[in-house]
Amino acid sequence: MSCLFCKIVAREIPADIVFETDEVLAFRDIRPAAPTHALVIPKRHIQGVHDATAAEGALLGALLLAGREVAVRLGVAESGYRLVINHGADAGQSVFHLHLHVLGGRGLSWPPG
Ligand code: AMP
Repeated sequence: MSCLFCKIVAREIPADIVFETDEVLAFRDIRPAAPTHALVIPKRHIQGVHDATAAEGALLGALLLAGREVAVRLGVAESGYRLVINHGADAGQSVFHLHLHVLGGRGLSWPPG
């Protein structure tokens, strides 16, 4: 298994886990780009959002709902937060296991670079 995030799911690599269900895992980003920055991933390997099939719609929904829950747990649900998915090279995707960024805290700029 060569996927970094699959290794985090398998607990082969440590992560600061903030939320988990049977389907998804959420952990803090190792290089935070905002005061609050976590990632939510499906436990099952999917390369990117464009690789998910229509049959995986419920899983994509679970990812969004988990992003909301992470925002609550990390204390940014009231003040505001951003959910971001990068797909492919032009968007800067660097880890090819689907992940939802949960970004919160003061100073989020828009539009992102
Ligand atoms: P992206 O550029 O959208 O593919 O985002 C990948 C994210 O994964 C980046 O924000 C990285 O900082 C983050 N990341 C890479 N390795 C780890 C790790 N071992 N634990 C937590 N986050 C990581």
